[in-house]
Amino acid sequence: MSKLNLVLFGPPGAGKGTQSAFLIQKYGLVHLSTGDILRAEKDAGTELGLMAQEIMGRGDLVSDDIVISMIRNKIEAHLDAKGFIFDGFPRTKAQAEALDGMLSAKNEPIVVMLALEVPEEELVKRLLGRGAVSGRADDQNESVIRNRIHKYETETAPLKDYYGAQGKFKGINGVGGVEEITARLVAAIG
Ligand code: AMP
Repeated sequence: MSKLNLVLFGPPGAGKGTQSAFLIQKYGLVHLSTGDILRAEKDAGTELGLMAQEIMGRGDLVSDDIVISMIRNKIEAHLDAKGFIFDGFPRTKAQAEALDGMLSAKNEPIVVMLALEVPEEELVKRLLGRGAVSGRADDQNESVIRNRIHKYETETAPLKDYYGAQGKFKGINGVGGVEEITARLVAAIG
């Protein structure tokens, strides 16, 4: 059976992490979040984590080479997965091209890119709310939040066209109740 490799896409605060949890359970997928991996490295005090910490604190993007090799290692570590859900990756065209290269070498391409769409002011409100309870430093400062959204608009949003050209882009309304949004994603997966 072919693998259900999904990209869950959207700006910071769009609900990628929350929705991933449902999709992983429903389809038995392996969740690969580069943000989670980087935070784990930071908490473990590794060299990579310490290097990434400053960049993440500003809301800038960590270098392509670093996140691409992180993802490559994780894919190789889960060769028997039913599929992957890529959350927060790819964020640049170089990352998308590298991912396509890795997956096409295995003949297991991305099936669909699901892009959660949420207006900026709603994102800022959600992220500040999350920062108040999670302790995530990059969710507690409005200018860092706006920088992350700006980076998304300039560097990451163009990937909609990249996947669109492959006939794989699906925009999903990311405003509403959590279950309602899950139902929209499930319908789009088909
Ligand atoms: P996230 O949890 O996806 O919001 O990611 C938190 C931070 O980790 C981002 O603001 C970036 O600094 C860094 N990061 C996560 N994923 C990537 C990626 N694919 N490329 C570059 N930087 C990333």
